[in-house]
Amino acid sequence: MAHVCPVCGYDGLQETAYDKDGNPSYEICACCGFEFGFDDESEGASHKEYRQKWLEDGANWFSHDRKPDSWNLQEQLRRIGAVWPPESN
Ligand SMILES: [Zn+2]
Repeated sequence: MAHVCPVCGYDGLQETAYDKDGNPSYEICACCGFEFGFDDESEGASHKEYRQKWLEDGANWFSHDRKPDSWNLQEQLRRIGAVWPPESN
């Protein structure tokens, strides 16, 4: 079963980011590098803020060797309903 990162939409997490009681996995997402239980609880970053910064920095993979050849950022973001770049009107 795939576990999706709530920050970047990557579906290759080893564990669910937060269990049903809200306990973080302390796993670091191979894609965006967010550590559940650390970046949020210790650093105070919201998923949205972290995502924005990650995207602005070029959406680089935390673990470069895990990046699939056919990786598509837009497809991944669609999984969590995020839009990048932000739509202007
Ligand atoms: Zn992620």
